[in-house]
Amino acid sequence: MKTICNVCRKRTDIGKPDIRTEGDLEIQYITCPSCGQEYIVAVTDPGLRKQIKSYDRLQQKIKNGNAAVGVYRKAEELHQENVMRCQQLIAQYLGIE
Ligand SMILES: [Zn+2]
Repeated sequence: MKTICNVCRKRTDIGKPDIRTEGDLEIQYITCPSCGQEYIVAVTDPGLRKQIKSYDRLQQKIKNGNAAVGVYRKAEELHQENVMRCQQLIAQYLGIE
């Protein structure tokens, strides 16, 4: 994945994010190889990680083709909830809330 660093304006290949933990939080981040600026990709707490696992299980069911009709909607709802929760946690983590 190519992106332009907000800080040094260099186009960089960011590759796979790194993960570090701070208390209950797991911080997924990438570091600009040119200037070292860090970008937060995702922040998860134990509750959100549990929800993500539930979502993965639903996705697995769908992939295997043995999901009931309601499962598709449930998976979609769960995904939206997880994305929103992740945005909240990022905002809190960065202290902009
Ligand atoms: Zn940079």
